[in-house]
Amino acid sequence: MSVVPDDFLLLILSSPSGAGKTTLTRKLEARFPELLFSVSHTTRKPRANEVDGRDYYFVDRETFVKKAAAGDFLEWAEVHGNLYGTSTNEVARAKAASGCRGMIFDIDYQGARQIRAREPQVVSVFILPPSMEELERRLRGRASETEEVVQRRFRVAEQEIEQYAFFDYLVLNDNLEDAFAHLASVILAERSRRWRIAPLAESLLRDKKARLK
Ligand code: ADP
Ligand code: 5GP
Repeated sequence: MSVVPDDFLLLILSSPSGAGKTTLTRKLEARFPELLFSVSHTTRKPRANEVDGRDYYFVDRETFVKKAAAGDFLEWAEVHGNLYGTSTNEVARAKAASGCRGMIFDIDYQGARQIRAREPQVVSVFILPPSMEELERRLRGRASETEEVVQRRFRVAEQEIEQYAFFDYLVLNDNLEDAFAHLASVILAERSRRWRIAPLAESLLRDKKARLK
């Protein structure tokens, strides 16, 4: 059973590491403040610019495993040797926040699969880099990771890109502004889905009938 109302947008962004999810998510947050970013839990160590509670909830493995066993996660997965998960509390927090119209999940394809199984109306977008060469350049350019981490992430990129067919939309992140425009269009188009707006159309018809009486 879905835990969110129909007009609440659940937007998943996935990609191979380094394709630009985080960059695009930050831009989406600025453009759509009514969509809350889902802050995941992770056992990964924070990068220099990352803030606990904003980018992630950074926890140790023991804490994470306990939370998973207690059923505190909507989904979780092991990615690049670390554990990552979306806590059910995050969804509760967004639903309770005034003016919130949806959530953005920056999660991998395993998490996307798990959320889709529980929330069928979820909208999923897979972000593609323009080339493998550029992907590698971006991974290295982030300069916050060791060569070993960069290589590990680049090695599994192919396996991640193979998952593209399970996503509703594919967005190419070559030029950042173009990619952002495409993502924003996905959100606006999804908000115009007939089934989301149908209750409004029906209420207009009810209103018209009532006026005839
Ligand atoms: P992800 O979250 O998918 O791992 P990031 O958003 O951290 O990726 O981006 C990886 C690196 O690529 C960052 O240094 C970011 O500034 C850069 N980047 C993102 N999008 C573009 C783009 N369209 N053109 C050039 N560099 C980009
Ligand atoms: P990073 O370490 O670069 O922040 O993230 C590595 C990968 O983990 C990315 O593909 C990111 O989308 C994914 N990820 C981040 N949070 C979650 C989460 O809560 N669940 C899952 N399944 N993946 C996540």
